[in-house]
Amino acid sequence: MISVFLRKGRDHSVRNRHPWIFSGAIDRLEGEAAPGDIVLVRDAVGEALGLGVYSPASQIRIRMLAFDPKAETGDIFFANALGRALGAREHLVKAGDVNALRIVNAEADLLPGVTIDRYADWYVGQFTTVGAERWKRLIASTLLELWPAKGFFERSDADARQHEGLAASSGVLAGEEPPDAIEIMENGCRYLVDVRTGHKTGFYLDQRDNRAVVAAHAAGRDVLNVFSYTGGFGVAALAAGAKSVTNVDVSAPALELAKRNFALNGLPDVAEFIEGNAFEVLRKFRDSRRSFDLVVLDPPKFADNKNRVMGALRGYKDLNLLAMKLLAPGGYLATFSCSGLVTPEIFRKVVGEAAVDARRDFQIVRSLRQATDHPESVFFPEGHYLKGLFLRANP
Ligand code: SAH
Repeated sequence: MISVFLRKGRDHSVRNRHPWIFSGAIDRLEGEAAPGDIVLVRDAVGEALGLGVYSPASQIRIRMLAFDPKAETGDIFFANALGRALGAREHLVKAGDVNALRIVNAEADLLPGVTIDRYADWYVGQFTTVGAERWKRLIASTLLELWPAKGFFERSDADARQHEGLAASSGVLAGEEPPDAIEIMENGCRYLVDVRTGHKTGFYLDQRDNRAVVAAHAAGRDVLNVFSYTGGFGVAALAAGAKSVTNVDVSAPALELAKRNFALNGLPDVAEFIEGNAFEVLRKFRDSRRSFDLVVLDPPKFADNKNRVMGALRGYKDLNLLAMKLLAPGGYLATFSCSGLVTPEIFRKVVGEAAVDARRDFQIVRSLRQATDHPESVFFPEGHYLKGLFLRANP
């Protein structure tokens, strides 16, 4: 195995079990490593610190797999990691009202670059690093042995692949072709998931727990579901007894599937679907003095690099201000940011500033985060990307 020596003084992050080693921390390689090779990471004087995967094209040059330099690699490593990931989610499967969940959450499950979701009888995987690309068939076949399914579909079309010098890749990796829409069950609601052309792997599973929080407060309320995608929060709210649900999204195909999802659950015909830019739709609602008792704001990632953070914060503030103005006294606002670069503290501050401008008093009833099948490693704060606040507008 090739050894990689870190620069003097650049070993503390690996010692603190942070899984990423940037190119600037690397002094030299003893030999040549190919993309996706497992390498032995050493400090400047040669002490072995652990094993990582080498990615020559990426700024994140090494992603750690194990902090024990003697850890087993090879097929058994993947079987162990997948077994551990499944074990951590067993209780969710056994609970019975969920059959769609994240099985592998990349760094948090010690499988960097590997994201795998299960939708009913299918796995859908995203492989975003050269290491993951090399292991994907082994991972798919091992997982199918550990917990059988009808097939494993690949959706490796995330932008992240470009940083690794990889082209997009999508299609069946093992087993059968999935149907055009896979029906899943979440918290007792049914949803159709388009795993071929839907966002990410098809569905925002990370919001499952938060959809339950919104549902628990939805009875009798007029709900505004902004950035609705395929109707996730809206279906949950209506199934829990909301008076009406207004869904807003810029994507026509997402709204088409949202309509099918409302129909699939046999819900009262009180859902509205508005195709448009959320900022404009909310301004129109404000100008026409429409009001709602529960607003969900789940925008896409506004900041995907450090240069975009300031602009993102302005976007979050405007959006929250607009939503706050639409809230009836005693109403609830569930507001989210999935930009990893925006910390929970900063997000809370921005929401506070929006409340000042809205001249409304809000209580934080709950802090929200990604669902429990999307854990983060304690050593890797970057893994906490989805944060939210559940607020109540004081009358
Ligand atoms: N809440 C959803 C997930 C939202 S993902 C769920 O629970 O499933 C973000 C959504 O925002 C996507 O559906 C995307 O189409 C939509 N979107 C992006 N920019 C938008 C804009 N400016 N106005 C309205 N919708 C937008």
